[in-house]
Amino acid sequence: MIPTPFYQIDRTALARNMAIIDRLRAASGARTLLALKCFATWPVFDAMRPHMDGTTSSSLYELRLGREKFGGETHAYSVAWADHEIDEAVGYADKIIFNSISQLERFGGRASGIACGLRLNPRFSTSGFDLADPARKFSRLGEWDAAKIGGVIDRISGFMIHYNCENADFDLFDAQLTRIEHEFGALLHQVEWVSLGGGIHFTGAGYPVDRLAARLKAFAERFAIQIYLEPGEAAITGAATLEVSVLDVLENEKTLAIVDASIEAHMLDLLIYRLPARVAPDAGDFPVMVCGKSCLAGDIFGEFRFPTALKVGDRISILDAAGYTMVKKNWFNGVKMPAIVIRELDGSLTLAREFGYEDYVTSLG
Ligand SMILES: *Cc1c(COP(=O)(O)O)cnc(C)c1O
Repeated sequence: MIPTPFYQIDRTALARNMAIIDRLRAASGARTLLALKCFATWPVFDAMRPHMDGTTSSSLYELRLGREKFGGETHAYSVAWADHEIDEAVGYADKIIFNSISQLERFGGRASGIACGLRLNPRFSTSGFDLADPARKFSRLGEWDAAKIGGVIDRISGFMIHYNCENADFDLFDAQLTRIEHEFGALLHQVEWVSLGGGIHFTGAGYPVDRLAARLKAFAERFAIQIYLEPGEAAITGAATLEVSVLDVLENEKTLAIVDASIEAHMLDLLIYRLPARVAPDAGDFPVMVCGKSCLAGDIFGEFRFPTALKVGDRISILDAAGYTMVKKNWFNGVKMPAIVIRELDGSLTLAREFGYEDYVTSLG
């Protein structure tokens, strides 16, 4: 038995997402790049590589990880490159996407051996969270002025337009893509490739994958471009859990269970967006508030229902722990870092990585 806490990545669940990506790629002609900022746990890249064309990145280190651990097409993007990064970045990348015209002008010459692109900000998005809305007022994420972009169009071969966020609504996607066709069509006709970014929830239950594929194909044909998608969340949705054990049970008007992990340290994204964690089936006569073991008062995973009263030693499996979790884990409170475990296709468990005191201490000096 592998001791908790650990993140458990399930190859069967991952394969389900990959099968949908295969279907989408085949029917649309789009290429798919894993967005490493969402998920970069490279011990399972072998299960993704046959189904995805490569990776996209948001920094030099992600870029290098993509090149070294995933391979395939490697797109380099960063909100801003530093002088001392650019040559190394160009060395790893097949395409480099600049966030601004000024970065393109500053570094385009040093990237002349690879394809250059520009991030286009259409000034609308599907995000309900201001924090994650690339189209928010005063956004620094990409260029939006078509006339200005037209002035540098001869220096780029493509655009990256990331404006969706967990968008499960195909009709909204369709309508917004039509807007992009109208507002930026003259520019799109002059490039060879367009990445539509991530945030399309096409692996979700009931998503009309075939309609999405047909829409992408029509877009590609209209402008004679190669489309890229950059799924993060969609590639790994439902593919991992955080496995924890109950350390103590308290009463304070509610039943409180303290577990051997922390939402602040191990599922930080939920805390930032004020979303509760999820467990399954979340049913039964025993409601319990499941709390983390850091000393942060609000270190609470959520309130769930259980079929029996929880007791010390009971195991809880927290769902959807792949995206934006392992990439954000931290050593707050010095809480033991969950190990990384892979559930193989035959159900057996492989321990991919354990973390100990040495990792904690070397992260600080
Ligand atoms: C965050 C991000 C993605 C991945 O988004 P998901 O919502 O995880 O699919 C893709 N491309 C860019 C440019 C991003 O910033």
